[in-house]
Amino acid sequence: MPKVEYTIQNLESCRCSNCPVRESSNCIAGKVAELGQISSSGGAQRMPAPQAVQMLFCSQAVGKSECNDLNASMACNCPGCPVWSVNELNSTYFCNRGAAS
Ligand code: SF4
Ligand code: SF4
Repeated sequence: MPKVEYTIQNLESCRCSNCPVRESSNCIAGKVAELGQISSSGGAQRMPAPQAVQMLFCSQAVGKSECNDLNASMACNCPGCPVWSVNELNSTYFCNRGAAS
C-alpha cells in the first residue's frame, strides 16, 4: 500500500498550495496563519510541523484536515501532482478523506 513520506521534496512537489479546495477554505487560511508563524519561529531551515503546512494531506504525517469547510465540488489537484504519480496513488481529496492507504 502507498505510504507517502513527509519530506521537503514532497512538500515542494505538492500541488495543494494552489488547489481551489484549499484556497477557498477560510479555516485552512487561519491555521496556516496561526501555526505557520509558530513553526517558522524555530528557524527557516527546519521542517515545518505537519499541522502547520496544511498540504501533503496524502502523507500519514498530515492526513485528513480538521477543517470542515473544504468544498469537494471543486477540482482536486492531486492527479496532476508528481507525488501522486510517483507513489501510484489512485484516490483524491486526501484533505477530506485522509491519508493514502
Ligand atoms: S488533497 Fe486534493 S483537494 Fe485537498 S487540498 Fe490537496 S489538491 Fe486540493
Ligand atoms: S497527491 Fe495531493 S495531497 Fe499528495 S502531495 Fe500531491 S497534491 Fe499534495
